[in-house]
Amino acid sequence: MDLIFLEPVLKHYIWGGTKLREEFHYNVDGDNIGECWGVSAHKNGDCNILGMEGETLSSLWRKRPELFGKSAEETAENVFPLLIKVIDAKNNLSIQVHPDDTYAKIHENGSLGKTECWYVLDCEENAELVLGHTATTKEELQHMIAENKWEELLQKIPVKKGDFFQIDPGTVHAIGGGITLLETQQNSDITYRLYDYGRLQNGLPRELHIEKSVDVITVPAVSGASCIIDTNGKPVNALNLLYDCPYYKVFALQVEGKATIQKEYPYMMMSVVEGEGEINGVSIQKGEHFILTTELEIAEFVGNMTLVASVE
Ligand code: ZN
Repeated sequence: MDLIFLEPVLKHYIWGGTKLREEFHYNVDGDNIGECWGVSAHKNGDCNILGMEGETLSSLWRKRPELFGKSAEETAENVFPLLIKVIDAKNNLSIQVHPDDTYAKIHENGSLGKTECWYVLDCEENAELVLGHTATTKEELQHMIAENKWEELLQKIPVKKGDFFQIDPGTVHAIGGGITLLETQQNSDITYRLYDYGRLQNGLPRELHIEKSVDVITVPAVSGASCIIDTNGKPVNALNLLYDCPYYKVFALQVEGKATIQKEYPYMMMSVVEGEGEINGVSIQKGEHFILTTELEIAEFVGNMTLVASVE
């Protein structure tokens, strides 16, 4: 049990596309595939463990806490902390915001809040996303929302492959059409939708959560530019730390030939986002997600591939 491979859960959304099937090899129908939950123990999409009939990540977390360096009490009391997704936005996602732990605990039945981050895997030329807003007070924010002044209110940021964005709770954000990214986030599914471009799903608008959004939006916003980290040009065959916050550390590893990584954390999540190769003699390819457990000490990678890794 040094490596645990997960069976991803695929989700369809009105803004999704076909890249998750065509480029990431997931066996899923439809032309609106939006998200792959690659490492998830969340009740809305709990990944099966490959090769272990009937086990999911949440059941393994409780039954085999030692694989994660935990005690039975720790995994009984706390849910698996992170959720890793690959997102294919063919069209714009709705404009949204997430609460922090304190707000979610009170208003969302004890759920965790949601801090998330994005690593841009690919994007079309001139792709952009929404990050932050221009309102200087809550009154101004409410006024601009009521007047539908979205063009003035929302800040757009141009995107390129390899950009990394940290999205703290309270940050207005939306992935733009033409962007594929890997999202590392707290294990939470709490999203407040502020604006959905007036779109319809099965003939009806999707629900908006204006009051809760206004409650949690940080005013004034942090500048969008300060949320971007350019990850290009990092050394190859090394685990490069991209971001460190109280909920997660995220790393990127570009393997060219051979890379040996001494594991420094009890367990680590990994996703192959480009190319193919091997880990300790096991074949891996783009689209696969796995966990290095406490039983694995050294990971030897061979091939030509890029991986994104995270730890709690
Ligand atoms: Zn979000």
